[in-house]
Amino acid sequence: MADSTLKSPAKKHNDPNKQAKRAAFDPTVASDKPQEYYDEIKARFELERDIRLKYRPKGLGEYTSDLEGELAKYEVDPYAEEQVAREPMEDYVEFLFIGGGFSALLTAARLRERGVESIRIVERGSDVGGTWYWNRYPGAACDVSAYDYLPLLDEMGHVPESFFAKGPEIFAHCQNIARRYDLYDLAIFQTTVESTHWDKEAKLWRLKTDRGDTLSARFVICANGTLAKPKLSRIQGMETFKGHSFHTSRFDYEYCGANLENLKDKRVGIIGTGASAVQIIPRVGRASKSLHVFQRTPSAIDIRDDIPTDPKWAASLKPGWQKERIDKHVLTTKPDPAKRAEIEQLPRDVRTQRYENQNIEHQMRIHARVDSVINDPATAEALKPWYMHRCKRPCYDDEYPPAFNLPNVHLVDTQGKGVTQINERGVVFEGVEYPVDVLIYATGFEVQVTGIYNDIRGEDGMELNEKYSTGMRTVFGIHSAGYPNLFIMGGYQASFQFNLTFMLQTQGFHIAECIKYTRENGYITIDAKPDTEQWWVDEVIRYRGTTNRNKECTPGYYNFEGEENRRQDGNYNGGMYQYVQHLDESKGKYREYFDFQQ
Ligand code: NDP
Repeated sequence: MADSTLKSPAKKHNDPNKQAKRAAFDPTVASDKPQEYYDEIKARFELERDIRLKYRPKGLGEYTSDLEGELAKYEVDPYAEEQVAREPMEDYVEFLFIGGGFSALLTAARLRERGVESIRIVERGSDVGGTWYWNRYPGAACDVSAYDYLPLLDEMGHVPESFFAKGPEIFAHCQNIARRYDLYDLAIFQTTVESTHWDKEAKLWRLKTDRGDTLSARFVICANGTLAKPKLSRIQGMETFKGHSFHTSRFDYEYCGANLENLKDKRVGIIGTGASAVQIIPRVGRASKSLHVFQRTPSAIDIRDDIPTDPKWAASLKPGWQKERIDKHVLTTKPDPAKRAEIEQLPRDVRTQRYENQNIEHQMRIHARVDSVINDPATAEALKPWYMHRCKRPCYDDEYPPAFNLPNVHLVDTQGKGVTQINERGVVFEGVEYPVDVLIYATGFEVQVTGIYNDIRGEDGMELNEKYSTGMRTVFGIHSAGYPNLFIMGGYQASFQFNLTFMLQTQGFHIAECIKYTRENGYITIDAKPDTEQWWVDEVIRYRGTTNRNKECTPGYYNFEGEENRRQDGNYNGGMYQYVQHLDESKGKYREYFDFQQ
């Protein structure tokens, strides 16, 4: 089956309204195939999920992010020249950011615009950039249109090079923001915050770092990332491997060569086929002597269709073009009351069935794409995802599927079992040894536990983790009662957005406004009221309570690896538009939402 849309057209981006294509399902439209067709596929989805659950009895416990001892090397920063020696610092600032990625850069920029001077950024890496500092693997790129994803384009006078920005361009943009807003002088790099304790008497946060620093701050912003801490699958014998190995977020160019040229005589193994692996595999496949890809569950790979920016279009853009574009886009996510009414008058089971049927149609289109590209029928079969769209992170790539037609690229489909054994020579699966010189772990990250690594203790000395152990409790996912002047960015109970920078900008704006109000009114602290917190927890539960999706999906990080979880321990599912509305509504009513102290 030929698919004419597989190749990117030789045109340049000149459509200011073009958005990245995302699947959208409309339950007012009935499916045109007999219901048995969909039921059969749904039954296969369940079967495949059950296979995976059977092989992962420990759920989240199948992974480890305690990268100590033998595993410590997987977290070492390969991009830092060497650790710069410095004396421990003792200082006070008004605002301290834990982390130097987009969350910190965007919020610090907003604070700067409000005349704030006393800011410090404490960052584990040796530069700003966060995700884009760490994830420098070959092919790293963003799946959200660059004109929306790259923030502050108006302010920075930058027009992205192509519709989807590549990692180096995004990293450079982060560095440019830091320069433009004079944030470099405020940053201390190669430094990890180890504890963040509230000093009740002084009404200050006291922080300690792994470099012996003692820092004090009036306000702390946890900006340490949504997917920041690498994790490894616990695989028997992984410590015994004698070859070279690393995690995707610590890509070793010294070993592979800047253009992967050192891989030409190397046998490479990659464990995992998530979004990172999907981008790496075609590049490493082309560069290496051989590549074995160890797959547990295939990703769903949709068309990418990237195009370079038309320079004439770029030159024609008027100041404020990005804001206009984003405003327009946000408005399109506003629920249409007429459509909503039409949907709501459908019986619930009809609605659900139609959503599911359209979702299945979408996934079958992905299957057809696999068939149209892959030469070997067995490989094609193995690359087909058998789960609903968005059970796992959808991927958009035009180079990944054809990579499996290369003679040196081999898919080892573990059919849901996953790699369970590694020896000194390589990977062993079902008694077959796959010797490799280098093993790349594309096994992902801890998810959205922003802030809780740093031993954060609030007013009564309770660690934030401990408070959350009986259920997460926040206001907007940003404030948590008993932790005054602490703001959490990109964590659970906030909305979830494919365009994460939009979410972070929204949160950054809210935080800057809260701080402005606190300072201008002569207060020293702002803290969530317990009642407001309860209201938000109920809001989160209300929107997470309507679906069994977590249970029905194949395991992965989207559904806590199939583990049962409390309804409140996840994202706010009321939609980004409504999340923004809630934040906007709080403005001007801060005294109703928060407690302030002088
Ligand atoms: P993921 O968590 O998405 O993927 C981990 C992969 O490792 C899965 O395929 C998982 O299989 C596999 N795995 C784990 N253990 C084993 C095992 N023992 N044997 C075989 N396979 C195993 O991590 P990623 O780093 O790929 O992506 C994380 C997120 O980062 C993405 O979801 C996305 O949000 C973001 N990202 C975005 C990109 C973009 O914009 N294009 C690019 C890269 C990342 P299984 O599915 O069976 O659990």
